[in-house]
Amino acid sequence: MSGTTVTAIQRAGVVGAGGAGFPSHVKATASADVVLANGAECEPLMRADTELMALDPKRVVRGLSLVRDSVGAKRAVVALKKKNRLAMDAIAGALPDDGGIELMPLANVYPAGDEFLLVFEATGRVVPEGGIPPDVGVVVNNVTTLAQVADAVEGRPVTDRMVTVQGEVASPGTFVAPIGTSIDELIEVAGGALEPAHAVIVGGPMMGHLMEAGGQPTTKTVAGVIVLPLDHPLVSSMSAREAQVLRVARAVCCQCMACTELCPRALLGHGLEPHRTIRAIQYAEFPEDHRHITSAYLCCECGMCELFACPLGIQPRRILADLKAELVRRGVPNPHVRTALSPDDVREYRQIPVARLTQRLGLTRYDVDAPLREGRLHPSRVTLQMNQHVGEPAAPTVKQGQDVLRGDVVGEADEGSIGARVHASISGVIESLSAEAVVIAAASADSGTSEPGGTGP
Ligand code: SF4
Ligand code: SF4
Repeated sequence: MSGTTVTAIQRAGVVGAGGAGFPSHVKATASADVVLANGAECEPLMRADTELMALDPKRVVRGLSLVRDSVGAKRAVVALKKKNRLAMDAIAGALPDDGGIELMPLANVYPAGDEFLLVFEATGRVVPEGGIPPDVGVVVNNVTTLAQVADAVEGRPVTDRMVTVQGEVASPGTFVAPIGTSIDELIEVAGGALEPAHAVIVGGPMMGHLMEAGGQPTTKTVAGVIVLPLDHPLVSSMSAREAQVLRVARAVCCQCMACTELCPRALLGHGLEPHRTIRAIQYAEFPEDHRHITSAYLCCECGMCELFACPLGIQPRRILADLKAELVRRGVPNPHVRTALSPDDVREYRQIPVARLTQRLGLTRYDVDAPLREGRLHPSRVTLQMNQHVGEPAAPTVKQGQDVLRGDVVGEADEGSIGARVHASISGVIESLSAEAVVIAAASADSGTSEPGGTGP
């Protein structure tokens, strides 16, 4: 293991950029024989990772080499979709001549980017119930994370990331935005929302969530936002209240099993059967020792069951996510820990083409290119959340009125805990701060990429 790489990743505040936000320095201390670069970007309309691979493949490959050396792996693989020709060619051209890194083309199916599925596709190993990829000797990192690892080793902390803006906007695109940029400001840069009354999904349409009322800033894990009309079915589904979700499930589930038959984790052999969970909640409010309730711990919240499989508009994913949160709140441990798992023979035939999924979601008209725009955005202020990652939130290290330069540390992780640092993503003055967030008002001469520190596009 390379301590230098791990320290550099930690100092730079790198976390899983694909959505999970797990501190990357912790992953880099694992021991594994295979490392995977996850470039699947399998959610409909998302483009940021593909743009990154097409335009800056060397950073991704460099980051992968660093992580491979850090964890002592023999094999390194970049997994990305075959249909993304430009990105495939760019990555292929950036691979070292010694054959030390392989390219693994993926079909255009959802959820190809689920890390358990990627591990199985690349190695034939099944991550155990309740486990993580290092349990089977594999470390998986998103490609944006790997680019940030490459930057980290050169002393550049995480200050920017690519964010795709799609949907009902005049000019969909992908932008290099300082972390903490207001999502409303991003939408304006994409030409503005075409409908005054609209909703915004933060993240992809399958695993994202509705933007909070009053707006929200980007974080290290926000790769895209989607603007939709208020009456779009996805918006209705995401805004349904818990009581309504439960009432519908109890009233109309016909136990057809379609949700279980298409569940990617069930197809890998995990003991998750969403139709039985829906049945279990028919009879009691919350039987916390029931295996089809505790199986919520095995759900990766991919959304396949509710946004594609269920013919009756029931939301097993939402129910399982709520159950999981309640189990955690009550301190109920995960009892599902089987390791000898056999994937279903039909798994291969139950992967859903993304075009069909996009159509089912009512998003086909928004499925357009979102090319990277030149230059880096210059927001007037940024709001840097202290909890952009899994683990303990960072603690602010600055004072109101203090001048900061892009790349300065503004939030520090507690030593010994799982957490990540937060850096100023623009130069300016600390306008306000709390335990939750630090707000920086831009210096008038914020000159973006010419300033010291920070990740470039
Ligand atoms: S697919 Fe829908 S109706 Fe069928 S078992 Fe699952 S939740 Fe019930
Ligand atoms: S969200 Fe649904 S389909 Fe996805 S893992 Fe959970 S139960 Fe399975």
